[in-house]
Amino acid sequence: MLGPNMIIACPHCGFPAKIRTYFSWNTLGAVFWSDGKQVAPMKPEIPAFVFCRKCNNLYWIKDAKEICEEKNFKSFYSHLEEPRYIEFPSFMQFPMALEIIENKKYVRIEMLYCFNNLIRKKKESEITPDMQKIHEANLYALIDLFDENNENELIMKAEVYRNLGLFEKSITLLEKLNNPKLSLIKEKFLTEIKRNNKKLFKLFGPVYGYR
Ligand SMILES: [Zn+2]
Repeated sequence: MLGPNMIIACPHCGFPAKIRTYFSWNTLGAVFWSDGKQVAPMKPEIPAFVFCRKCNNLYWIKDAKEICEEKNFKSFYSHLEEPRYIEFPSFMQFPMALEIIENKKYVRIEMLYCFNNLIRKKKESEITPDMQKIHEANLYALIDLFDENNENELIMKAEVYRNLGLFEKSITLLEKLNNPKLSLIKEKFLTEIKRNNKKLFKLFGPVYGYR
């Protein structure tokens, strides 16, 4: 359920931007992807950080001050242009984000999701050779960041190896998974590897029901 649109100010330069707010949402009809991302039609995707349209500096949404509701903006700031919605950073902005944000694992996973979103949204034609190169470097960097003792990260690492076409390494990791709850996931990955498929695939879904 949607709340009112709010106007926030860039903490660096004060430039206003618009965000959607939500009272509630659910994960009805969720799709689970091989990179670990869950996408649901009624679950909002909100960026955690953005680049300001005016000053181009990165800021975290949680650090940006709320100025007012969108409907009141004109009465307070009639001299200013109508603010535009915040946007997720583009893939090519991620190398900049990597320089600024300490938590490299977080940024690199978001960067992977950002790249894969183009596949999810059937916009692969937008992937340039430069983006492909940066994406691959990101995959190699991610290999060193995942903790194999954590089942979720082990699966993500196996996924990254698969994306790189390093199928043997991916299989070796998947074989370490012995949690019976994950055996279906393991089978699905092994099936794609048998097909020599490096690409992102739908793991489950859409799943109907509350989670
Ligand atoms: Zn700014």
